[in-house]
Parts: sequence; C-alpha cells; structure tokens
Amino acid sequence: MSNAYRSHACGDLRRTDAGTEVLLSGFVAAHRDHGGLVFLDLRDRSGLVQVVIDPTIAPEVHGTRVESVVRVAGVVVERAAGTVNPKIATGEVEVRATLVAVLSPADALPFQLDDENVDEALRIRHRALDLRRSDMTARLATRAHVTRIMRRYLEDRGFWDLETPVLTKSTPEGARDFLVPARLHPGAFYALPQSPQLFKQLYMMAGFERYYQIARCFRDEAQRADRQLEFTQLDIEMAFVERDEILELVEGLYARIWQETKGIELPVPFPRISWHDAIARYGTDKPDLRFAMEISDVTDAVRSSAFGVFAGAAAAGGVVRALACPGAASLSRKELDELMQFAKDWGGKGLAYLLLDAGEVRSPIAKFLTPAEIDGLREATGAAEGDAIFLAADSEAIVTRVLGALRPHLAQRFSLVDEAAYAFAFVVDFPLFQWDEDGKRWAAEHHMFTAPKREHEHLLATDPGAVLSEAYDFVCNGLEVASGSLRIHRADVQQTVFDTVGFSAEDAEARFGFLLRALRLGAPPHGGIAPGLDRTVMLLEHTENIRDVIAFPKIAGGFDPLTDAPTGVDATQLSDLGLALGPSKKA
Ligand code: ASP
Repeated sequence: MSNAYRSHACGDLRRTDAGTEVLLSGFVAAHRDHGGLVFLDLRDRSGLVQVVIDPTIAPEVHGTRVESVVRVAGVVVERAAGTVNPKIATGEVEVRATLVAVLSPADALPFQLDDENVDEALRIRHRALDLRRSDMTARLATRAHVTRIMRRYLEDRGFWDLETPVLTKSTPEGARDFLVPARLHPGAFYALPQSPQLFKQLYMMAGFERYYQIARCFRDEAQRADRQLEFTQLDIEMAFVERDEILELVEGLYARIWQETKGIELPVPFPRISWHDAIARYGTDKPDLRFAMEISDVTDAVRSSAFGVFAGAAAAGGVVRALACPGAASLSRKELDELMQFAKDWGGKGLAYLLLDAGEVRSPIAKFLTPAEIDGLREATGAAEGDAIFLAADSEAIVTRVLGALRPHLAQRFSLVDEAAYAFAFVVDFPLFQWDEDGKRWAAEHHMFTAPKREHEHLLATDPGAVLSEAYDFVCNGLEVASGSLRIHRADVQQTVFDTVGFSAEDAEARFGFLLRALRLGAPPHGGIAPGLDRTVMLLEHTENIRDVIAFPKIAGGFDPLTDAPTGVDATQLSDLGLALGPSKKA
C-alpha cells in the first residue's frame, strides 16, 4: 500500500513490526495532551494505533482536534509491560512519531462518536462523521461483504448482471409510484421502478436464462422501521426453471452469506411450509419459527359447548383456535386484562383463557366447560401444568389475525425467543388471488404475473379463490426476506388473470402491452425471486432500524436531513416541465 500517505494500515501493526519505520495517515480518534508528550489514537479503516509525539517536532499537535486527518511518520516500538492495551489489536505497540502533518483540521464536532444518545436527524445531517462510528462502519462493511458474496455466488452459477431502466413506466407491485415529469412530453410522466419485475421477465423472453441485479426499488409508501422509500433488492430471474431450483439457489446463497460473514452454519434445508399451514399454525404468512407455540384448531372440541361464544362461532361457520403459552398460568389479572385489550386492538372481540395452575383450572369460562372439553383443549394444545391456554372464537380471518399477533407477543413476554437464533423458512403455495373487500374484486396476492399452479388453471374462470399459485416467500424470524414466483409464460393465461382482476383487454394492452407483445413472440417458462438486501443486513447485524444499514437513509416523512431533500425548485424548472403548483396538500 506504499504511497505518499501510508506504508502500513494503522490496525495491522503488531509486536513483530517493532523497529519498523512506518508512514500512517488517518483520523485522530483520541487526543491526550500531557504537555511534554501528546498521545494520539490514529484510526483508519483497518483499526487504530497509539502514536506518541514530542510536540517540539510539530507544535500544532497541541491544538489538533479529534477527527482531524493527520499523516505521521515514525517508528513502531513495543509498549512497556504495564502500558499494554489488551482491548485493541495493536495494543502491544505504539508509534513514536518523527514527523507529523495535519492534512485537514476538524472543527469542534457536532456530537461525539461514542455518544449513543444523539438525535438521529443530527447524525444523518453529519453522516460522513456518523459513519466513522465503529458499529456503523461494521454494518456497512457487512453490507459490502454481503453484496460481494451475492455477486460471486451468482457469477459462479452463470448469472448475468444486467441493468434495467430507472425512468420507466408504472410497474405492477401495487404501491404508489414515484413520478418524474417528462420535459419533452408535457403532461406525461415516467415512473421510478417499484421493482425490475417486467424487465427481468423480458430478459428471459430474450433468451438470457439467468439474470441478476442488485437493484434499487422505489415505493412511495409510509416509511416504517423496516421500510424506506428506496430500498435495494437482489433481483433474480431464471428461465426453464422449476420452483425448487430457485428455492435451493437462495438457500445455498443464504447459507454461504451467514457462513462467510458470521461463521454461522445455518441448518439446511430450510423448512418449506405451505401458506395454508403457516396461516393455520402460526396465524401469519411470515411465521417466527424461533419458538414453537403453534396454534391448534379446537372448533370440533367445543362445537357443542355450553359456552355460547364458542358454540356460536362454530355454528356461524367460524372457528375456535387456541394457543398454549408455557409458564403463563402465573399471569396477573391486570396482565390478562391487557391481553384481552390486545386481542381487541387486533380486531377480535376478546380472548378466553384457562390457567393450568397447581392442579386446578382457573378460568372465568371453566364453569361452562365439561371435564371432557377441558381435557380435549389440553390435548389439542399440548398444554402442561403452569401453562395458559388462550382461545379466540370468530371468523377464520379474525381469529388468524388475533392469534397471529398474540403468538410473538406472548413469546416476547415469556422470553421464549432465542434472540441470537436465525429461523429461515420458505412459505409456498400461496393463493393466486385475495378478495379485496373495498374494491369488491379479486386482486393478485403476489403480482399479476405470477403463474397459477398448472392443475388449478381450469379454476381461474370459475373459482378464483381456490386457485393456488407458484408464489413463495422466504422468511426469517417473522420478517419477509424475499418473495418470488414462477411467472405466466403464455399470453392467454396472462389475459385470463387480467380478466379476473378486472382488467379489460384494452386496459391490459395500455398498461402492459409491452409485456403482452413479448409473451406472444415465444416465452420460456421462467421464475425468480428478490431478497431484500437491507433486511438481510438487518438480520445479520441484529438491528431493527433499517437506517442503521443504509449509508444515506431518509427519516420520517421521507425527509433527508443530509441534503434537505425534498426541496422546492425554481419557477423556471417548473415552467420548463409545463408544471404549475396547485394548493399544497398535506400528507
Ligand atoms: N418483483 C417481486 C418483488 O419485488 C419479486 C419477484 O417476484 O421476483 O417483490
């Protein structure tokens, strides 16, 4: 690495380097002025090393502020026995400076790098400083490591890294588009891609067979802790492929990422769970599998119960489902009330419970249940002494929602979650459509280009709700990491799906004519998947804040404290675009 700035990296120096003359450059991480001697901790990307300076050779070091950038020439020496610092890799040595130059002095800092309580907007405003924090540097290093592994893995398997346009036409993922006015076509707009979906399919129709791209996607949606207006996904598409090859590809990739970045051997194969089972057993299509606590259906066990809520739900075609929570018999009255409220907040009418406490069954509803019914509930849920059985009775959709939310909530409360664990799984066999109650129509569950299962194609026209698709999700610890599907590769099937979601042939032609034209010219069977890069790094780095793994993120309201974007523009820019601002509409 020898040049005018450095012969060595700060963090690499060891006892074996004693006696070596070195040239180092970096940031002043710490500055201790003892008058006759000044001690600097000098930091570059590799780590830091202590530098000892006699200020007579460079008087300006007395006033050099931390985070200034300096160049030091000197000699590596072993530290005396009592002054070794075991906390840093270079702690057995220090550098005695012979020449020091301040390359770029720093002002007083807006915050200290070791201060954990700095307002996030201020941190992002000074992001070049903030990213010097060791944890932030480590997260971005992991991010770069992950994309390096992704590229190598896919390149080794014959994938081509190909780009897709950013100025394009509204894409089909169903969120709100970001629009860009087209100056040369007044009144017309480009859309930023919500994903490269249709372009990657066109690549397959072009015969390229294996495509990937680390692609930026844009969705104008409310930001959340795990969602940004722009995010990155590893976009993958393959032709002449079967579903399981795509799942195995991703499984191998994630096993490699965890192995190479963290030294963790993930147990492969990851479980494959049908969507139907995931909903029934975990109440969600992104189950957290770090703990068991499965939901059981007890509708039949309580169908003729004297407890009207159970019998009523069963008679109305609804369900009664239960969760046994280990250790929950000890819950206080107040905590039980809070759980009732929790169920209501999730749209339920409430929650029934049985506490299996010291040989007794404590419950406001025990008097309505026969011993045989109670035994039936114990058996169905596998509840043991000391556990609580929680029951919800309602329509299947509401019971699923309530118990699906209650399960991770209870797991947290009773510390059933191994926070260091990674429980990956594939959820497969999603329904092709879901009923949109507001619009009173069928909508695509994944997107409109997802293939129905072959054996269900004949149901498309008559019973859309029964059609299963070739869509799959890749989940970990209750988070969706990727979704994908095999795609429709025939224009007639595509048109039937458009018909089902209420797109006339003209609408379909106007919005997706470019895809239909290609489909009519011969399309290989194909499919793909798109793992989220940001979420992958969040999992590796155990952070719940997506902004911690993005170098330059936006905060609430899509605001960027670094550049102050979004900003107003000049009147001439607007008139060039043929635009005029109307009365402002508060989001
Ligand atoms: N385009 C999909 C998404 O962004 C992924 C896929 O189907 O490959 O979620």
